[in-house]
Amino acid sequence: MREIIDAQTAAALRQFGDSASEEFYRRLKAQRLCTTRCDQCGEAAFPPRSFCPYCHSRQIHWFELPRRARLYAFTQQGRSLRFIAPEVIGLVDVEGLGRILSRIDAPLEGLRIGQELEVAFQELTPEIWVHHYRPVN
Ligand SMILES: [Zn+2]
Repeated sequence: MREIIDAQTAAALRQFGDSASEEFYRRLKAQRLCTTRCDQCGEAAFPPRSFCPYCHSRQIHWFELPRRARLYAFTQQGRSLRFIAPEVIGLVDVEGLGRILSRIDAPLEGLRIGQELEVAFQELTPEIWVHHYRPVN
């Protein structure tokens, strides 16, 4: 397996205590990228929350994001914050949610704004899976 995360980040991921985080990773392991939407005000949050960050309601429900998205902007970090450098990250337009930051699994040189992407999943440990987007061929 290609190493894309350092030991410090892996330890931090294991310490997530929020119930929404546990559910998020359980769903990622099932290869479903999901988040939460508020039943009171209708706003969606990403990453998911156990309460609404807009109106503070705890009446939320989970929904699965569409597999396809569109690349809005992208860059590459020579010194990566979380993953092994160089890390390509992008702002991705997801229908029904909005614009989210995500890792892009593709060389920077081949990317273009407006390009169609699809979500994919990668196992880091048996318990921790992560998502990323990659160009649709
Ligand atoms: Zn709300």
